[in-house]
Amino acid sequence: MSEKYDVVVIGSGPAGYVCAIRAAQLGLKTACIEKYQGPQGKGVNGGTCLNEGCIPSKALLDSSMKYHETVNSLAKHGINTRSVTVDVEQMIARKDDIVKKLTGGIAALFKSNGVTSLFGTGKLLAGKKVEYTDSKGKSQIIEAENVVLATGSAPIDIPVAEVDGKSIIDSKGALELTQVPKRLGIIGAGVIGLELGSVWNRLGSEVVLLEALDVFLAMMDKQIAREANKVFLEQGLDIRMGCRVTGSEVKRGKVTVTYQDADGKEAQEIFDKLIVCVGRAPYTENLLAEDSGVNLDERGSIFVDDYCATNAPGVWAIGDLVRGPMLAHKGSEEGVMVAERIAGQLTEMNYDIIPNVIYTHPEIASVGMTEQELKQSGQPFKVGMFPFAASGRALAADDTDGLVKILAHEETDRILGAHVIGPSAAELVQQVSIAMEFGSTAEDLGMMVFAHPTMSESVHEAALAVNGEAIHVANRRKRKK
Ligand code: FAD
Ligand code: NAD
Repeated sequence: MSEKYDVVVIGSGPAGYVCAIRAAQLGLKTACIEKYQGPQGKGVNGGTCLNEGCIPSKALLDSSMKYHETVNSLAKHGINTRSVTVDVEQMIARKDDIVKKLTGGIAALFKSNGVTSLFGTGKLLAGKKVEYTDSKGKSQIIEAENVVLATGSAPIDIPVAEVDGKSIIDSKGALELTQVPKRLGIIGAGVIGLELGSVWNRLGSEVVLLEALDVFLAMMDKQIAREANKVFLEQGLDIRMGCRVTGSEVKRGKVTVTYQDADGKEAQEIFDKLIVCVGRAPYTENLLAEDSGVNLDERGSIFVDDYCATNAPGVWAIGDLVRGPMLAHKGSEEGVMVAERIAGQLTEMNYDIIPNVIYTHPEIASVGMTEQELKQSGQPFKVGMFPFAASGRALAADDTDGLVKILAHEETDRILGAHVIGPSAAELVQQVSIAMEFGSTAEDLGMMVFAHPTMSESVHEAALAVNGEAIHVANRRKRKK
């Protein structure tokens, strides 16, 4: 037996590291165990988000966008460039530098907040004990008043296209390519497929996405998904819906994928690389001793209540490991909530207002309910929309695809959802999220002063349009006298 902690967090992704820092800030003696090892075999904090997810993907999205704009859009602005080339290795090195900076930042934050950082594997035993095995294989038992499980998720494998790390890769592999594949196949036209497909499409790959469902971006507001589909097709992403992949074969570095298309016909495609991104599953490998007392739900997530407490007293679980969207910010807020509840506060989290963003160009962002969800719920609602084609700022920036859509309750006028496809959609939806958190009506948002000329004015106009009061676009709805 060794030291006893108030809180032991297992996993240092955005859920775990945020929880550990908040717990330490609240005066709790806290340790965080992380098993991830970087390229030099050293322990690295930050989880999927910092090492293999949010941050590296956005670094490559930004680099590839700069290249694409330089080649395709600058001439229109009167800027002529000649012989632009891509140095993929430099692009990847820049991405790796950003990751290093941010993961190193967590180590520094742990130090300054007094979190004990332990590299190795954590396993929950009965009675809030944790078996900690360091990278040399030496184990010890750590006792804790509270244990927080935050071990995240891992990509789902499909037997018809097994990842070999060379020709058939997952999202991690797709962030490490050192050459632009001539033909890139992607199984799954979800968030990762669209983001990483965009990166390599912009750099010159011919990208084909094979999606099992018949409906594109089924979770999104239908109107936004339709607009997205149109724009992506124009960008050259070959998105094929209703495809059932039945097999794959790697020969001389090429991947042959066999699938049944939407008409049930057998088809084949040959790719230089194939990315498999068909979703992620909670990661619980070797996490729980048989007698840990923690239950899983039917999806393999750790079963928790509204406050992230498991059914074992003093054991909590947060982030991708538990129900809800697999998003970094959702996990981080759960981390804060759990740390504060352990410290005796009554913190709650509003699961109804969690923004969701796909970082393609244009970006796609949403918060709250979609139009189809509102119809299904039977709530009376009204809609306000504003297209970026009518925005002075969007025209000046030559970025006019998309629209802002705001949904409000027909009688109370309270905002129930916002859906944006267009420039800075992530930032715009965040503005509406803040308004929603304060219980804003569409009229409240319409009465605010927005700087001109900004993309944000489109949020203002969409809010005004909810009640038929938009100024810069024809109102579909008649204003109430
Ligand atoms: P993770 O980040 O997965 O961290 C879990 C950590 O636990 C890992 O470091 C793991 O090594 C460690 N661990 C596991 N088992 C043990 C053990 N037994 N002992 C010790 N340590 C252990 N989300 C967004 O919100 N925005 C985005 O833009 C975004 N982009 C993404 C892009 C990609 C390509 C991917 C793959 C994901 C993206 N996500 C994004 C999702 C986001 O990365 C996850 O939702 C988030 O990382 C989950 O956080 P977490 O802390 O729950 O788990
Ligand atoms: P996803 O759920 O977004 O998309 C997976 C897609 O694959 C779905 O459309 C699904 O219908 C399809 N699919 C499933 N099985 C298939 C099969 N056998 N053949 C063809 N298609 C199949 O999952 P993802 O893109 O792998 O991303 C995983 C998670 O990571 C996301 O759900 C999200 O929570 C998170 N993420 C978030 C962001 C972001 O916030 N910007 C970015 C990347 C990842």
